[in-house]
Amino acid sequence: MTDLTTLALEAEKALAPQFAALEQISFENTKRVMEAFAEYRVCEGYFAATSGYGYDDRGRDALDKIYARVFGCESALVRHSIVNGTQALAIGLYGLLRPGDTLLSVAGKPYDTLEEVIGIVGKPGNGSLADYGISYGQIELKDGKLDLDAIGKALEENKSVKVVFVQRSKGYLNRPTLSVEEIGELCDFVHARSEAYVMVDNCYGEFTETLEPTALGADLIAGSLIKNPGGGMAESGGYLAGTEKAVELVSYRLTTVGVGGEVGATLGQNKSMFKGFFYAPHTVKEALKTAMFAAYIFEKLGFEAEPRYDQTRYDIIQALNFGDPELLKAFCRGIQYGSPVDAYVTPEPWDMPGYTDQVIMAAGTFTSGASIELSADGPMRPPYTAFFQGGLTFESGKLGILSAAREVLKVIEG
Ligand SMILES: *Cc1c(COP(=O)(O)O)cnc(C)c1O
Repeated sequence: MTDLTTLALEAEKALAPQFAALEQISFENTKRVMEAFAEYRVCEGYFAATSGYGYDDRGRDALDKIYARVFGCESALVRHSIVNGTQALAIGLYGLLRPGDTLLSVAGKPYDTLEEVIGIVGKPGNGSLADYGISYGQIELKDGKLDLDAIGKALEENKSVKVVFVQRSKGYLNRPTLSVEEIGELCDFVHARSEAYVMVDNCYGEFTETLEPTALGADLIAGSLIKNPGGGMAESGGYLAGTEKAVELVSYRLTTVGVGGEVGATLGQNKSMFKGFFYAPHTVKEALKTAMFAAYIFEKLGFEAEPRYDQTRYDIIQALNFGDPELLKAFCRGIQYGSPVDAYVTPEPWDMPGYTDQVIMAAGTFTSGASIELSADGPMRPPYTAFFQGGLTFESGKLGILSAAREVLKVIEG
């Protein structure tokens, strides 16, 4: 059998320069987080649980300010009670858009779960944006880049565009992830031509670079706390951050008009959100190292990795093409066997609601569904791609990947 121990040593040697660059990014991001913690005087009192209305929850107020400061913007809302990334994004869209407005998605199709929110799919009458008279337009990427000509033309022709929407991460689509710099150029371009807000789906991108899109002009970003910014510690939640005006409007959708962001009991969740944000730059680095390590190992075993092991990364997702259903299943099995929780379980493909093909998933996580923890899934269709992400520590991520490699080799080499 192929010698995985030797291959792992080779991988770490080859990846040393990239790992060093990641250390630097993590250090700079940690420094920004620490400075914000000091500025807002983080203290034990912030971790105390509030109940009822949650008036004067000092921890909640400080965490909002800390997110804003670290993300380079004026204002933020960070809440354990936002159930997932989709809800955070939906709060943003409903907060900014009004009847007669247009939502323009400029990096092609948004994340699957937003389709029903927008009203491209699903039953009329459910309360989608379309039900409220909000139109939708979409511009595809051109050669993997934002098509500024087409975006400019759309803004010129349609003065009702109120939100220009861009997804930073490729998610589970076959397109490149956008860098923060590219999103910054989009913000300048849009703001020079229109009054529209630029809103960014920031999921999986946080802390992979030393700036967030808000620092380069995005009006609003949103994401999930069981991904990057929760650092593997937050038990649930989501955030929105951006300009004071945008976040104020959004706060009226989060709770209700006139109430906004000044209420909301935190029920003892503050500590894990603070601690998670403290860990997040480091945890994201561990996930990125795990992804690069996996790309190296599986490229050497003859599979196609996207991104390749030596490419610069702007999100934590790694895709591996196995070209064969048995190999995809073996990979997910190995990830599961190499997880800290439920390692004794064998994943099988199943008919997941809302998907046309069967899907196989591996997730041995402390927090249910947390994809900052090592997790993988793949639709059972050609080219039998496994998408995986996370890894709370590089050591455990490496063990997970080597376990996956062993399972794949067992199928190939018998
Ligand atoms: C995860 C994710 C979301 C939101 O998904 P939830 O499962 O609702 O948290 C949205 N956009 C992208 C690109 C994502 O990766």
